Amino acid sequence: MAERELLKREIFCGEVREEHSGKTITVYGWVNNMRELGGLTFIDLRDREGLLQIVINETFPAPAILKAIGKETVLSVSGRVVLRAKPNPELPSGQVELIASDIKILAASEVPPFVPENRAGVSEELRFKYRYIDLRNQTMQQNFKLRAKVNLLTRNFLDCEGFLDIETPILTNATPEGARDYLVPSRIYKGKMFALPQSPQQFKQLLMVAGFERYFQITRCFRDEDLRADRQPEFTQIDIEMSFAEHDELFAIIERLVREIFALRGHNVALPFQRLPYREAMEKYGSDKPDLRIPYQIQDFSAEAGTWNSDLLNGALANRAKVKGLVIPDASAYSRKQLDEINETGKKLGGKGVIWMKKGDDGFKASLKIPAAAIAAFYQERKIDPGSLVLLIADDESQALTLAGRLREHLGRKFQDKNRLEFLWVTDFPLFFYNEEEKRLDSNHHPFTAPNPDDIPLMDSQPLAVKAIAYDLVLNGVEIGGGSKRIHDIALQRKVFRMLNLEDREIEEKFGFFLNALKFGAPPHLGIALGFDRLLMLLTGEDSIREIIAFPKTTSSLCLLTGSPSSVSQRQLDDLGIAIKN
Ligand code: ASP
Repeated sequence: MAERELLKREIFCGEVREEHSGKTITVYGWVNNMRELGGLTFIDLRDREGLLQIVINETFPAPAILKAIGKETVLSVSGRVVLRAKPNPELPSGQVELIASDIKILAASEVPPFVPENRAGVSEELRFKYRYIDLRNQTMQQNFKLRAKVNLLTRNFLDCEGFLDIETPILTNATPEGARDYLVPSRIYKGKMFALPQSPQQFKQLLMVAGFERYFQITRCFRDEDLRADRQPEFTQIDIEMSFAEHDELFAIIERLVREIFALRGHNVALPFQRLPYREAMEKYGSDKPDLRIPYQIQDFSAEAGTWNSDLLNGALANRAKVKGLVIPDASAYSRKQLDEINETGKKLGGKGVIWMKKGDDGFKASLKIPAAAIAAFYQERKIDPGSLVLLIADDESQALTLAGRLREHLGRKFQDKNRLEFLWVTDFPLFFYNEEEKRLDSNHHPFTAPNPDDIPLMDSQPLAVKAIAYDLVLNGVEIGGGSKRIHDIALQRKVFRMLNLEDREIEEKFGFFLNALKFGAPPHLGIALGFDRLLMLLTGEDSIREIIAFPKTTSSLCLLTGSPSSVSQRQLDDLGIAIKN
């Protein structure tokens, strides 16, 4: 029997350089491409570090093997590294090539459904079904190398800051973070369920009660909610909690961590990050996660609008509407057709439409009947450059702000340069919002969030005016983290639960264990969670978190690779005491 050759990676294809010329090496990898030219055969062999050109010339002893090689065949190739007569500057290994003296087929490949280097026209369905081929793409390989680096950097950084990595259960009870739970039926206790954690919130707080002082975990969270580009049913968070500290200290730690993470991609992130109270964020940007790369803010033009003799605006103002506006540089960039489109976009976003004003060749004009002189005076008083376009939305205040905010994002897309990073802390969120559907107060973050002590006297009289010590970290219009100071006083925690319309029996049932812990010396504490996937998405410049999760679900929550969720056998259902309703 032929002696089996032992596999041993000496060097990656993508790492072979001029300094290796003259050496005999063995490389392993996948056939990226194969072509014949002038009596020679060329193979681009690919591994996780890149490509290397293999040349099969007339000295190759066993050319018959070439017939069995196709795209994605796995090879071991031995040979001598030589300098290329015609270097390829596009390729890091492009100065050299390998003259093959021995080729072994380590694994055959059927014709792949697509080739990793060329995924442009390939549907996401196909890419997810054959994810292992999709992941062979060089960009994907880079993404996951970076992901591993960020993970390691985060662990080292937090370790140096005195945070302990402590795991918390996956089979647990519900953690209210505002989404539906994924449930796991218990076989032993029929009819009872574990819930997968929406976050380790209660456990990390219990770890503070347990005296660990500083905790972190890079952990999976599960939320059954409608998916979007930056949401997945299971996602990863950098979860952090600390005792005996205020949020200034936590912010400084997170800022330094984020700075180090972005330095991995050559960014020089300036510290400290800006801070903006929620109220101001809504007034200026119509969003609690504003994209600060877009240079214009929302302004209130209600006072002026009342002087323009417009029946429509006067009517709206009489109905207590506000007129919110955006001043957009370079009005000449917008044709009549585009202005009509903006109006349509405003309607699609849920508003009544968008009014515009600008200075054309024949003077000031607007999409409403407003005297030109009034527009000119308005431009002058507000010091608006005559070359700018003014867009107005008249609606009830919060609606007008939200619509103006969406329009701002929509029209500001050209400013969204991925290489520019605008970080921002949004602070002072309201503790509650009014849940119209359920006709009750709901927590803005989660029920463990502490109110600002100054606002505690308002809790009974004006609960919606109570601000929380809660904060979000925003990068380029994406919320990449959020957290809060926690309630550590049992009476206040009970009060908040009751304000959320929970009955005492329900409070005991769901949170009794947690309230108990608050009886036994719970230290003041606070924390945050950063969305690890979203951070990676922004760091790599990808548009979807699906590009930086190895095995993601589709937007309709399916795993196309494994075909899950899938049916289970009757026997399994019987074991669990479950009958499926049709
Ligand atoms: N548990 C929160 C979340 O997952 C974060 C926090 O308050 O620390 O969003």
